[in-house]
Amino acid sequence: MGRVIWLRCRGWEQEGLLRLFMNSLDPEVAECPEELIVYGGTGKAARDWESVERIKEKLMQLENDQTLLVQSGKPVGVFTSHPFAPRVIMAGSLLVPAYSDYDTFWQLERRGQTAYGQSTASCWAYIGTQGVLEGTANTYGEVARRHFGGSLRGRWVLTSGLGGMGAAQPLGVEYNGGVALVVEVDEARVDRRLRNSLCQMKATSLDDALFLVREAVLRKEPRSVALVGNAADVYRAVLQRGVVPDVVTDQTAAHDLLNGYVPAGVSLSEAIKLRASAPEKYLERSRSGIVEHVKTMMEFMRNGAVVFDYGNNIRHQAAAAGLTGALEIPGFVSAYLRDYFCAGRGPFRWIALSGRAEDIYALDEFILAEFKDDEAITNWIRFVQDRIPFQGLPARICWLNLDQRLRLVDIIIKLLRERKLGAPVALTRDHMGNIASPWRETEKMPDGSDAIADWPVLSGLLNAISGASLVSIQQGGGVGIGYSIHAGMTVIVDGSGLSGKKAAQVTYSDVGLGIIRHADAGYPLAREMSRQYGLNMD
Ligand code: NAD
Repeated sequence: MGRVIWLRCRGWEQEGLLRLFMNSLDPEVAECPEELIVYGGTGKAARDWESVERIKEKLMQLENDQTLLVQSGKPVGVFTSHPFAPRVIMAGSLLVPAYSDYDTFWQLERRGQTAYGQSTASCWAYIGTQGVLEGTANTYGEVARRHFGGSLRGRWVLTSGLGGMGAAQPLGVEYNGGVALVVEVDEARVDRRLRNSLCQMKATSLDDALFLVREAVLRKEPRSVALVGNAADVYRAVLQRGVVPDVVTDQTAAHDLLNGYVPAGVSLSEAIKLRASAPEKYLERSRSGIVEHVKTMMEFMRNGAVVFDYGNNIRHQAAAAGLTGALEIPGFVSAYLRDYFCAGRGPFRWIALSGRAEDIYALDEFILAEFKDDEAITNWIRFVQDRIPFQGLPARICWLNLDQRLRLVDIIIKLLRERKLGAPVALTRDHMGNIASPWRETEKMPDGSDAIADWPVLSGLLNAISGASLVSIQQGGGVGIGYSIHAGMTVIVDGSGLSGKKAAQVTYSDVGLGIIRHADAGYPLAREMSRQYGLNMD
Protein backbone atom coordinates (compact mmCIF):
# COMPACT_ATOMS: atom_id res chain seq x y z
CA MET A 1 0.00 0.00 0.00
CA GLY A 2 1.61 3.30 -1.05
CA ARG A 3 1.54 6.50 0.94
CA VAL A 4 -0.46 9.54 -0.12
CA ILE A 5 2.43 12.00 -0.23
CA TRP A 6 0.70 15.04 -1.61
CA LEU A 7 0.93 17.83 0.96
CA ARG A 8 -0.30 21.42 0.87
CA CYS A 9 1.60 22.28 4.05
CA ARG A 10 5.24 22.23 5.06
CA GLY A 11 4.92 19.22 7.31
CA TRP A 12 2.49 16.50 8.29
CA GLU A 13 1.51 18.15 11.58
CA GLN A 14 0.21 21.22 9.75
CA GLU A 15 -1.29 19.11 6.96
CA GLY A 16 -3.00 16.78 9.45
CA LEU A 17 -4.47 19.70 11.36
CA LEU A 18 -5.65 21.30 8.11
CA ARG A 19 -7.38 18.07 7.13
CA LEU A 20 -9.04 17.84 10.55
CA PHE A 21 -10.17 21.47 10.33
CA MET A 22 -11.72 20.95 6.91
CA ASN A 23 -13.18 17.63 8.01
CA SER A 24 -15.04 19.26 10.88
CA LEU A 25 -16.82 21.48 8.32
CA ASP A 26 -17.53 18.68 5.85
CA PRO A 27 -21.31 18.56 5.21
CA GLU A 28 -21.24 14.84 6.09
CA VAL A 29 -19.77 15.70 9.47
CA ALA A 30 -21.06 19.10 10.59
CA GLU A 31 -24.67 19.69 11.59
CA CYS A 32 -24.88 23.09 9.84
CA PRO A 33 -21.67 23.77 7.89
CA GLU A 34 -23.08 26.85 6.13
CA GLU A 35 -23.08 28.57 9.53
CA LEU A 36 -19.78 26.89 10.53
CA ILE A 37 -21.72 24.97 13.20
CA VAL A 38 -20.27 21.54 13.83
CA TYR A 39 -22.51 20.22 16.64
CA GLY A 40 -23.79 20.87 20.18
CA GLY A 41 -26.06 23.88 19.69
CA THR A 42 -23.79 26.49 18.06
CA GLY A 43 -20.40 24.78 18.51
CA LYS A 44 -18.28 26.28 15.71
CA ALA A 45 -15.01 25.29 14.00
CA ALA A 46 -14.08 28.92 13.23
CA ARG A 47 -15.33 32.41 14.08
CA ASP A 48 -16.44 33.42 10.57
CA TRP A 49 -15.72 32.67 6.91
CA GLU A 50 -12.82 35.07 6.78
CA SER A 51 -11.23 33.14 9.67
CA VAL A 52 -11.76 29.88 7.78
CA GLU A 53 -9.76 31.14 4.83
CA ARG A 54 -7.09 32.69 7.06
CA ILE A 55 -6.69 29.50 9.12
CA LYS A 56 -6.20 27.45 5.95
CA GLU A 57 -3.73 29.96 4.55
CA LYS A 58 -1.75 30.20 7.80
CA LEU A 59 -1.57 26.40 8.19
CA MET A 60 -0.26 26.11 4.64
CA GLN A 61 2.46 28.69 5.32
CA LEU A 62 3.39 27.47 8.79
CA GLU A 63 6.97 26.24 9.25
CA ASN A 64 7.90 23.20 11.34
CA ASP A 65 9.25 25.46 14.07
CA GLN A 66 6.32 27.88 14.20
CA THR A 67 3.07 27.97 16.17
CA LEU A 68 -0.25 29.44 15.07
CA LEU A 69 -2.43 31.08 17.73
CA VAL A 70 -6.21 30.86 17.42
CA GLN A 71 -8.45 32.98 19.65
CA SER A 72 -12.08 31.81 19.72
CA GLY A 73 -11.98 30.58 16.16
CA LYS A 74 -9.93 33.43 14.66
CA PRO A 75 -6.21 33.14 13.80
CA VAL A 76 -4.39 35.96 15.56
CA GLY A 77 -0.66 35.34 15.25
CA VAL A 78 2.23 33.09 14.26
CA PHE A 79 5.28 32.83 16.52
CA THR A 80 8.59 31.08 16.24
CA SER A 81 8.65 28.10 18.61
CA HIS A 82 10.47 24.80 17.99
CA PRO A 83 9.71 21.44 16.36
CA PHE A 84 8.60 19.83 19.64
CA ALA A 85 6.11 22.64 20.35
CA PRO A 86 2.48 22.49 19.20
CA ARG A 87 1.83 23.77 15.68
CA VAL A 88 -1.45 25.29 16.88
CA ILE A 89 -2.52 26.59 20.27
CA MET A 90 -6.02 27.84 20.98
CA ALA A 91 -8.08 29.55 23.63
CA GLY A 92 -11.82 29.48 23.08
CA SER A 93 -14.99 31.09 24.47
CA LEU A 94 -13.16 32.10 27.64
CA LEU A 95 -14.41 35.04 29.71
CA VAL A 96 -13.23 36.41 33.03
CA PRO A 97 -15.17 34.38 35.67
CA ALA A 98 -17.41 37.21 36.92
CA TYR A 99 -18.50 37.88 33.30
CA SER A 100 -19.00 34.26 32.28
CA ASP A 101 -22.69 34.39 31.52
CA TYR A 102 -24.72 34.08 28.36
CA ASP A 103 -25.79 37.76 28.21
CA THR A 104 -22.17 38.89 28.10
CA PHE A 105 -21.17 36.07 25.77
CA TRP A 106 -23.97 36.73 23.25
CA GLN A 107 -23.18 40.45 23.26
CA LEU A 108 -19.50 39.78 22.46
CA GLU A 109 -20.45 37.11 19.94
CA ARG A 110 -22.76 39.56 18.11
CA ARG A 111 -19.85 41.98 17.92
CA GLY A 112 -17.76 39.24 16.29
CA GLN A 113 -15.27 39.09 19.17
CA THR A 114 -15.80 35.52 20.31
CA ALA A 115 -17.45 32.25 19.23
CA TYR A 116 -18.88 29.23 21.01
CA GLY A 117 -16.58 26.25 20.50
CA GLN A 118 -18.54 23.48 22.33
CA SER A 119 -15.90 20.80 23.10
CA THR A 120 -14.41 19.19 19.99
CA ALA A 121 -15.89 21.64 17.43
CA SER A 122 -13.48 24.54 17.83
CA CYS A 123 -10.41 22.32 18.22
CA TRP A 124 -11.24 20.38 15.05
CA ALA A 125 -11.41 16.96 16.72
CA TYR A 126 -15.05 16.22 15.93
CA ILE A 127 -15.60 12.98 14.00
CA GLY A 128 -19.40 12.91 13.85
CA THR A 129 -21.82 11.07 16.05
CA GLN A 130 -19.43 8.13 16.44
CA GLY A 131 -17.34 10.37 18.71
CA VAL A 132 -19.73 10.01 21.61
CA LEU A 133 -21.15 6.60 20.74
CA GLU A 134 -19.16 4.38 23.07
CA GLY A 135 -19.59 6.88 25.90
CA THR A 136 -23.32 6.68 25.33
CA ALA A 137 -23.23 2.88 25.18
CA ASN A 138 -21.18 2.82 28.41
CA THR A 139 -23.63 5.13 30.13
CA TYR A 140 -26.58 2.92 29.21
CA GLY A 141 -24.48 -0.13 30.07
CA GLU A 142 -23.97 1.24 33.59
CA VAL A 143 -27.68 2.12 33.83
CA ALA A 144 -28.38 -1.53 32.94
CA ARG A 145 -25.90 -2.86 35.51
CA ARG A 146 -27.05 -0.62 38.35
CA HIS A 147 -30.81 -0.88 37.83
CA PHE A 148 -31.74 -3.77 35.55
CA GLY A 149 -29.48 -6.73 36.28
CA GLY A 150 -26.92 -6.01 33.55
CA SER A 151 -29.00 -5.64 30.39
CA LEU A 152 -31.66 -3.36 28.91
CA ARG A 153 -33.38 -6.28 27.19
CA GLY A 154 -37.12 -5.79 27.63
CA ARG A 155 -36.58 -2.20 28.87
CA TRP A 156 -37.19 1.11 27.15
CA VAL A 157 -35.67 4.55 27.27
CA LEU A 158 -37.54 7.78 26.54
CA THR A 159 -35.14 10.50 25.45
CA SER A 160 -34.85 13.39 23.01
CA GLY A 161 -32.50 15.16 20.63
CA LEU A 162 -31.05 13.61 17.47
CA GLY A 163 -28.33 16.23 16.98
CA GLY A 164 -24.61 15.58 16.61
CA MET A 165 -24.25 13.96 20.04
CA GLY A 166 -27.84 12.99 20.75
CA ALA A 167 -27.90 10.80 17.63
CA ALA A 168 -25.65 8.33 19.46
CA GLN A 169 -28.49 7.47 21.82
CA PRO A 170 -30.49 5.02 19.66
CA LEU A 171 -27.43 2.81 19.00
CA GLY A 172 -26.18 3.29 22.57
CA VAL A 173 -29.45 1.84 23.89
CA GLU A 174 -29.59 -0.90 21.24
CA TYR A 175 -26.01 -1.94 22.08
CA ASN A 176 -27.31 -2.80 25.54
CA GLY A 177 -30.30 -4.70 24.19
CA GLY A 178 -32.90 -2.02 24.92
CA VAL A 179 -35.52 -0.02 23.07
CA ALA A 180 -35.12 3.73 22.54
CA LEU A 181 -37.84 6.23 21.77
CA VAL A 182 -36.15 9.50 20.76
CA VAL A 183 -38.17 12.70 20.32
CA GLU A 184 -36.72 15.26 17.89
CA VAL A 185 -38.34 18.51 16.84
CA ASP A 186 -36.49 18.76 13.51
CA GLU A 187 -37.67 16.19 10.98
CA ALA A 188 -34.60 16.76 8.77
CA ARG A 189 -32.37 15.56 11.61
CA VAL A 190 -34.54 12.48 12.08
CA ASP A 191 -34.26 11.67 8.38
CA ARG A 192 -30.49 12.18 8.42
CA ARG A 193 -30.12 9.67 11.29
CA LEU A 194 -32.32 7.14 9.47
CA ARG A 195 -30.22 7.57 6.32
CA ASN A 196 -27.02 6.98 8.33
CA SER A 197 -28.49 3.90 10.04
CA LEU A 198 -28.07 5.56 13.44
CA CYS A 199 -31.78 5.01 14.15
CA GLN A 200 -33.95 2.19 12.84
CA MET A 201 -37.40 3.67 12.28
CA LYS A 202 -39.56 6.78 12.35
CA ALA A 203 -43.00 6.63 14.02
CA THR A 204 -45.94 8.43 12.47
CA SER A 205 -47.57 9.42 15.77
CA LEU A 206 -47.18 8.92 19.51
CA ASP A 207 -49.60 5.97 19.33
CA ASP A 208 -47.51 4.41 16.60
CA ALA A 209 -44.31 5.08 18.59
CA LEU A 210 -45.66 3.49 21.76
CA PHE A 211 -46.90 0.51 19.77
CA LEU A 212 -43.47 -0.01 18.19
CA VAL A 213 -41.81 0.35 21.59
CA ARG A 214 -44.20 -2.05 23.33
CA GLU A 215 -43.83 -4.64 20.59
CA ALA A 216 -40.01 -4.67 20.86
CA VAL A 217 -40.11 -4.62 24.67
CA LEU A 218 -42.40 -7.66 24.75
CA ARG A 219 -40.17 -9.49 22.27
CA LYS A 220 -37.10 -8.34 24.22
CA GLU A 221 -35.58 -7.12 20.96
CA PRO A 222 -33.34 -4.05 20.60
CA ARG A 223 -35.07 -1.30 18.61
CA SER A 224 -34.77 2.43 18.07
CA VAL A 225 -37.70 4.63 17.14
CA ALA A 226 -37.64 8.35 16.36
CA LEU A 227 -40.69 10.55 16.77
CA VAL A 228 -40.92 14.06 15.37
CA GLY A 229 -42.22 16.34 18.09
CA ASN A 230 -41.32 18.59 20.96
CA ALA A 231 -39.86 16.64 23.87
CA ALA A 232 -41.74 18.62 26.52
CA ASP A 233 -45.08 17.94 24.79
CA VAL A 234 -44.38 14.29 24.10
CA TYR A 235 -43.08 13.52 27.61
CA ARG A 236 -46.22 15.13 29.10
CA ALA A 237 -48.46 13.13 26.73
CA VAL A 238 -46.72 9.87 27.69
CA LEU A 239 -47.14 10.67 31.39
CA GLN A 240 -50.81 11.55 30.91
CA ARG A 241 -51.40 8.12 29.39
CA GLY A 242 -50.11 6.58 32.61
CA VAL A 243 -47.15 5.02 30.77
CA VAL A 244 -43.85 4.99 32.70
CA PRO A 245 -40.65 4.34 30.70
CA ASP A 246 -37.87 2.42 32.43
CA VAL A 247 -35.40 5.26 31.80
CA VAL A 248 -35.97 8.93 30.97
CA THR A 249 -33.37 11.49 29.94
CA ASP A 250 -32.89 14.26 27.36
CA GLN A 251 -30.25 15.45 24.90
CA THR A 252 -31.71 18.56 23.38
CA ALA A 253 -29.11 21.35 23.33
CA ALA A 254 -30.68 22.74 26.52
CA HIS A 255 -27.37 24.26 27.64
CA ASP A 256 -28.22 27.16 25.29
CA LEU A 257 -31.81 28.28 25.82
CA LEU A 258 -31.70 30.70 22.91
CA ASN A 259 -30.04 28.72 20.13
CA GLY A 260 -30.17 25.10 21.24
CA TYR A 261 -33.60 24.49 22.75
CA VAL A 262 -37.03 24.79 21.13
CA PRO A 263 -39.75 25.57 23.68
CA ALA A 264 -43.09 23.73 23.55
CA GLY A 265 -45.77 25.56 21.58
CA VAL A 266 -43.25 27.03 19.12
CA SER A 267 -42.70 25.25 15.80
CA LEU A 268 -39.16 24.88 14.47
CA SER A 269 -39.69 27.49 11.74
CA GLU A 270 -41.25 29.94 14.22
CA ALA A 271 -38.35 29.30 16.59
CA ILE A 272 -35.79 30.27 13.94
CA LYS A 273 -37.64 33.56 13.28
CA LEU A 274 -38.37 34.37 16.94
CA ARG A 275 -34.74 33.82 18.01
CA ALA A 276 -33.68 36.60 15.66
CA SER A 277 -36.65 38.98 16.02
CA ALA A 278 -37.37 38.77 19.77
CA PRO A 279 -34.60 36.96 21.67
CA GLU A 280 -35.89 38.10 25.09
CA LYS A 281 -39.36 36.75 24.36
CA TYR A 282 -37.80 33.53 23.07
CA LEU A 283 -35.76 33.12 26.24
CA GLU A 284 -38.84 33.69 28.40
CA ARG A 285 -40.67 30.90 26.54
CA SER A 286 -37.63 28.62 26.77
CA ARG A 287 -37.38 29.14 30.53
CA SER A 288 -41.04 28.42 31.20
CA GLY A 289 -40.97 25.53 28.70
CA ILE A 290 -37.97 23.89 30.29
CA VAL A 291 -39.56 24.09 33.72
CA GLU A 292 -42.54 22.08 32.44
CA HIS A 293 -40.21 19.69 30.59
CA VAL A 294 -38.13 18.92 33.70
CA LYS A 295 -41.22 18.83 35.93
CA THR A 296 -42.47 15.93 33.80
CA MET A 297 -39.08 14.20 34.07
CA MET A 298 -39.34 14.54 37.87
CA GLU A 299 -42.83 13.03 37.82
CA PHE A 300 -41.48 10.06 35.87
CA MET A 301 -38.79 9.75 38.54
CA ARG A 302 -41.44 9.73 41.31
CA ASN A 303 -43.30 7.04 39.35
CA GLY A 304 -40.25 4.77 39.40
CA ALA A 305 -38.37 5.61 36.19
CA VAL A 306 -34.59 5.95 36.27
CA VAL A 307 -34.06 9.61 35.34
CA PHE A 308 -30.78 11.43 34.75
CA ASP A 309 -29.40 14.62 33.20
CA TYR A 310 -27.44 13.67 30.09
CA GLY A 311 -24.82 16.38 30.16
CA ASN A 312 -26.82 19.29 28.71
CA ASN A 313 -27.49 21.06 32.03
CA ILE A 314 -31.26 20.78 31.61
CA ARG A 315 -31.89 20.33 35.35
CA HIS A 316 -29.81 23.39 36.16
CA GLN A 317 -31.62 25.47 33.53
CA ALA A 318 -34.94 24.46 35.07
CA ALA A 319 -33.67 25.17 38.59
CA ALA A 320 -32.41 28.60 37.50
CA ALA A 321 -35.86 29.28 36.04
CA GLY A 322 -37.40 28.52 39.45
CA LEU A 323 -38.19 24.80 39.53
CA THR A 324 -37.65 23.48 43.05
CA GLY A 325 -36.16 19.99 43.29
CA ALA A 326 -34.78 19.89 39.72
CA LEU A 327 -31.25 19.40 41.04
CA GLU A 328 -32.30 16.12 42.66
CA ILE A 329 -32.05 14.59 39.18
CA PRO A 330 -28.62 12.94 39.08
CA GLY A 331 -26.00 13.76 36.44
CA PHE A 332 -24.76 10.97 34.16
CA VAL A 333 -21.06 11.19 35.00
CA SER A 334 -21.33 11.16 38.78
CA ALA A 335 -24.07 8.51 38.61
CA TYR A 336 -22.57 6.17 36.02
CA LEU A 337 -19.16 7.00 34.56
CA ARG A 338 -16.88 8.29 37.32
CA ASP A 339 -15.06 4.97 37.82
CA TYR A 340 -13.93 4.96 34.21
CA PHE A 341 -12.18 8.30 34.71
CA CYS A 342 -10.64 7.21 38.02
CA ALA A 343 -9.14 4.27 36.13
CA GLY A 344 -7.91 6.54 33.32
CA ARG A 345 -10.15 4.79 30.82
CA GLY A 346 -11.78 7.21 28.43
CA PRO A 347 -12.64 8.06 24.85
CA PHE A 348 -9.61 7.90 22.55
CA ARG A 349 -9.91 8.64 18.81
CA TRP A 350 -7.80 7.84 15.80
CA ILE A 351 -8.48 9.38 12.43
CA ALA A 352 -7.12 8.24 9.07
CA LEU A 353 -5.74 11.39 7.46
CA SER A 354 -5.52 9.53 4.15
CA GLY A 355 -9.32 9.52 4.01
CA ARG A 356 -9.15 5.78 3.27
CA ALA A 357 -11.44 3.43 5.15
CA GLU A 358 -8.89 0.62 4.57
CA ASP A 359 -6.53 2.33 7.01
CA ILE A 360 -9.11 2.10 9.78
CA TYR A 361 -9.97 -1.49 8.90
CA ALA A 362 -6.27 -2.41 8.94
CA LEU A 363 -5.98 -0.90 12.41
CA ASP A 364 -9.15 -2.71 13.49
CA GLU A 365 -7.54 -6.04 12.62
CA PHE A 366 -4.41 -5.29 14.64
CA ILE A 367 -6.50 -4.05 17.56
CA LEU A 368 -8.66 -7.20 17.52
CA ALA A 369 -5.49 -9.30 17.69
CA GLU A 370 -3.64 -7.16 20.24
CA PHE A 371 -6.60 -6.89 22.63
CA LYS A 372 -8.15 -10.29 21.96
CA ASP A 373 -8.60 -10.93 25.69
CA ASP A 374 -10.51 -7.70 26.35
CA GLU A 375 -14.13 -8.23 25.33
CA ALA A 376 -15.07 -4.62 25.96
CA ILE A 377 -12.68 -3.64 23.16
CA THR A 378 -13.24 -6.52 20.72
CA ASN A 379 -17.05 -6.43 21.01
CA TRP A 380 -16.96 -2.70 20.46
CA ILE A 381 -14.72 -2.79 17.38
CA ARG A 382 -16.87 -5.52 15.81
CA PHE A 383 -20.08 -3.62 16.60
CA VAL A 384 -18.92 -0.33 15.07
CA GLN A 385 -17.45 -2.11 12.05
CA ASP A 386 -20.87 -3.56 11.43
CA ARG A 387 -23.09 -0.61 12.32
CA ILE A 388 -21.29 2.71 12.01
CA PRO A 389 -20.96 4.56 8.74
CA PHE A 390 -17.96 6.89 8.66
CA GLN A 391 -18.71 10.60 8.51
CA GLY A 392 -15.95 12.48 6.68
CA LEU A 393 -12.46 11.18 7.43
CA PRO A 394 -12.67 7.53 8.53
CA ALA A 395 -12.12 7.29 12.27
CA ARG A 396 -12.65 5.16 15.34
CA ILE A 397 -13.19 5.90 18.97
CA CYS A 398 -12.72 3.40 21.75
CA TRP A 399 -12.57 3.78 25.52
CA LEU A 400 -9.03 2.72 26.41
CA ASN A 401 -6.82 2.98 29.47
CA LEU A 402 -3.26 4.27 29.51
CA ASP A 403 -1.56 0.93 28.72
CA GLN A 404 -3.96 0.25 25.90
CA ARG A 405 -3.50 3.70 24.39
CA LEU A 406 0.27 3.30 24.47
CA ARG A 407 -0.02 -0.13 22.82
CA LEU A 408 -2.24 1.38 20.13
CA VAL A 409 0.27 4.18 19.53
CA ASP A 410 2.91 1.47 18.96
CA ILE A 411 0.64 -0.36 16.52
CA ILE A 412 0.04 2.82 14.52
CA ILE A 413 3.74 3.64 14.38
CA LYS A 414 4.58 0.07 13.32
CA LEU A 415 1.99 0.13 10.50
CA LEU A 416 3.16 3.53 9.33
CA ARG A 417 6.77 2.39 9.24
CA GLU A 418 5.78 -0.75 7.32
CA ARG A 419 3.92 1.53 4.88
CA LYS A 420 0.66 -0.29 5.58
CA LEU A 421 -1.33 2.93 6.04
CA GLY A 422 -2.01 5.46 3.30
CA ALA A 423 -1.02 8.50 5.38
CA PRO A 424 -0.38 9.60 8.98
CA VAL A 425 -2.99 9.23 11.69
CA ALA A 426 -4.38 11.84 14.09
CA LEU A 427 -4.81 10.85 17.72
CA THR A 428 -7.24 12.85 19.79
CA ARG A 429 -10.03 12.55 22.36
CA ASP A 430 -13.03 14.41 23.64
CA HIS A 431 -12.76 16.61 26.71
CA MET A 432 -14.45 14.42 29.32
CA GLY A 433 -11.43 13.45 31.44
CA ASN A 434 -9.75 16.88 31.23
CA ILE A 435 -12.45 19.23 32.35
CA ALA A 436 -13.80 21.17 35.29
CA SER A 437 -17.58 20.96 35.04
CA PRO A 438 -19.42 21.00 38.37
CA TRP A 439 -22.73 19.92 36.81
CA ARG A 440 -21.20 17.13 34.75
CA GLU A 441 -17.73 15.57 34.88
CA THR A 442 -16.67 17.00 38.24
CA GLU A 443 -20.05 16.89 39.97
CA LYS A 444 -19.93 15.52 43.52
CA MET A 445 -16.17 15.08 43.83
CA PRO A 446 -15.52 13.54 47.28
CA ASP A 447 -13.42 16.49 48.46
CA GLY A 448 -15.91 19.10 47.18
CA SER A 449 -13.45 20.36 44.54
CA ASP A 450 -16.08 20.33 41.76
CA ALA A 451 -15.51 23.93 40.63
CA ILE A 452 -11.71 23.97 40.75
CA ALA A 453 -10.63 24.81 37.20
CA ASP A 454 -6.84 24.53 37.64
CA TRP A 455 -6.84 20.97 36.30
CA PRO A 456 -7.89 21.58 32.68
CA VAL A 457 -5.45 24.50 32.51
CA LEU A 458 -2.68 22.21 33.75
CA SER A 459 -3.80 19.63 31.21
CA GLY A 460 -3.44 22.11 28.34
CA LEU A 461 -0.06 23.33 29.54
CA LEU A 462 1.25 19.82 30.14
CA ASN A 463 0.15 18.60 26.72
CA ALA A 464 1.79 21.62 25.12
CA ILE A 465 5.17 20.76 26.65
CA SER A 466 4.70 17.03 26.06
CA GLY A 467 4.56 17.34 22.28
CA ALA A 468 0.90 17.69 21.25
CA SER A 469 0.39 19.05 17.73
CA LEU A 470 -2.61 21.10 18.85
CA VAL A 471 -3.64 22.20 22.32
CA SER A 472 -6.76 24.14 23.26
CA ILE A 473 -8.20 25.54 26.45
CA GLN A 474 -11.89 26.38 26.23
CA GLN A 475 -15.00 27.03 28.24
CA GLY A 476 -18.66 26.11 28.05
CA GLY A 477 -18.51 22.64 26.47
CA GLY A 478 -21.49 20.38 27.18
CA VAL A 479 -23.18 22.44 29.87
CA GLY A 480 -22.81 25.94 28.42
CA ILE A 481 -21.10 29.26 29.14
CA GLY A 482 -20.09 29.69 32.77
CA TYR A 483 -20.28 26.02 33.69
CA SER A 484 -17.16 24.32 32.35
CA ILE A 485 -13.50 24.85 31.49
CA HIS A 486 -11.77 22.13 29.49
CA ALA A 487 -8.76 21.24 27.40
CA GLY A 488 -8.38 19.49 24.07
CA MET A 489 -5.36 17.93 22.40
CA THR A 490 -4.42 16.29 19.11
CA VAL A 491 -1.19 14.59 18.02
CA ILE A 492 -0.40 13.81 14.41
CA VAL A 493 1.54 10.55 14.16
CA ASP A 494 3.54 10.21 10.94
CA GLY A 495 5.82 7.29 11.82
CA SER A 496 8.91 9.44 12.41
CA GLY A 497 10.89 9.11 15.63
CA LEU A 498 9.90 12.63 16.64
CA SER A 499 6.18 12.09 16.22
CA GLY A 500 6.39 8.70 17.97
CA LYS A 501 8.05 10.35 20.96
CA LYS A 502 5.44 13.09 21.02
CA ALA A 503 2.54 10.63 20.78
CA ALA A 504 3.83 8.41 23.60
CA GLN A 505 4.66 11.33 25.87
CA VAL A 506 1.36 13.17 25.30
CA THR A 507 -0.63 9.98 25.84
CA TYR A 508 1.11 9.38 29.16
CA SER A 509 0.76 13.01 30.31
CA ASP A 510 -2.83 13.35 29.15
CA VAL A 511 -4.17 10.24 30.85
CA GLY A 512 -1.82 10.60 33.81
CA LEU A 513 -3.09 14.04 34.70
CA GLY A 514 -6.71 12.84 34.63
CA ILE A 515 -5.82 10.05 37.06
CA ILE A 516 -3.93 12.46 39.33
CA ARG A 517 -6.92 14.82 39.41
CA HIS A 518 -9.21 12.01 40.60
CA ALA A 519 -6.60 10.68 43.04
CA ASP A 520 -6.21 14.16 44.49
CA ALA A 521 -9.98 14.33 45.03
CA GLY A 522 -9.73 11.16 47.12
CA TYR A 523 -10.87 8.30 44.89
CA PRO A 524 -9.17 5.07 46.07
CA LEU A 525 -9.28 3.58 42.55
CA ALA A 526 -7.48 6.62 41.10
CA ARG A 527 -4.91 6.46 43.90
CA GLU A 528 -4.28 2.81 43.10
CA MET A 529 -3.93 3.58 39.37
CA SER A 530 -1.66 6.46 40.21
CA ARG A 531 0.60 4.07 42.15
CA GLN A 532 0.51 1.49 39.35
CA TYR A 533 1.60 4.02 36.75
CA GLY A 534 4.19 5.63 38.99
CA LEU A 535 2.29 8.92 39.02
CA ASN A 536 1.81 9.33 42.75
CA MET A 537 3.45 12.14 44.65
CA ASP A 538 3.99 10.18 47.92
P1 NAD B 1 -27.25 19.60 18.56
O1 NAD B 1 -27.43 21.07 18.66
O2 NAD B 1 -26.51 19.02 17.41
O3 NAD B 1 -28.68 18.90 18.62
C1 NAD B 1 -29.69 19.24 19.53
C2 NAD B 1 -30.98 18.67 18.99
O4 NAD B 1 -32.04 18.92 19.91
C3 NAD B 1 -31.38 19.32 17.67
O5 NAD B 1 -31.54 18.31 16.71
C4 NAD B 1 -32.66 20.06 17.99
O6 NAD B 1 -33.56 20.09 16.90
C5 NAD B 1 -33.21 19.22 19.14
N1 NAD B 1 -34.16 19.93 20.01
C6 NAD B 1 -34.03 21.15 20.56
N2 NAD B 1 -35.10 21.42 21.35
C7 NAD B 1 -35.91 20.34 21.29
C8 NAD B 1 -37.13 20.01 21.91
N3 NAD B 1 -37.73 20.84 22.77
N4 NAD B 1 -37.69 18.80 21.65
C9 NAD B 1 -37.08 17.93 20.79
N5 NAD B 1 -35.93 18.20 20.17
C10 NAD B 1 -35.33 19.38 20.42
O7 NAD B 1 -26.59 19.14 19.95
P2 NAD B 1 -25.84 17.75 20.29
O8 NAD B 1 -24.47 17.79 19.75
O9 NAD B 1 -26.71 16.60 19.94
O10 NAD B 1 -25.73 17.88 21.88
C11 NAD B 1 -26.92 17.81 22.67
C12 NAD B 1 -26.65 18.29 24.07
O11 NAD B 1 -25.79 17.37 24.74
C13 NAD B 1 -25.96 19.64 24.13
O12 NAD B 1 -26.46 20.38 25.22
C14 NAD B 1 -24.54 19.30 24.36
O13 NAD B 1 -23.84 20.34 24.99
C15 NAD B 1 -24.66 18.08 25.24
N6 NAD B 1 -23.50 17.19 25.12
C16 NAD B 1 -23.58 15.97 25.62
C17 NAD B 1 -22.51 15.11 25.56
C18 NAD B 1 -22.55 13.77 26.18
O14 NAD B 1 -21.56 13.07 26.25
N7 NAD B 1 -23.70 13.36 26.65
C19 NAD B 1 -21.34 15.48 24.93
C20 NAD B 1 -21.28 16.73 24.38
C21 NAD B 1 -22.37 17.56 24.45
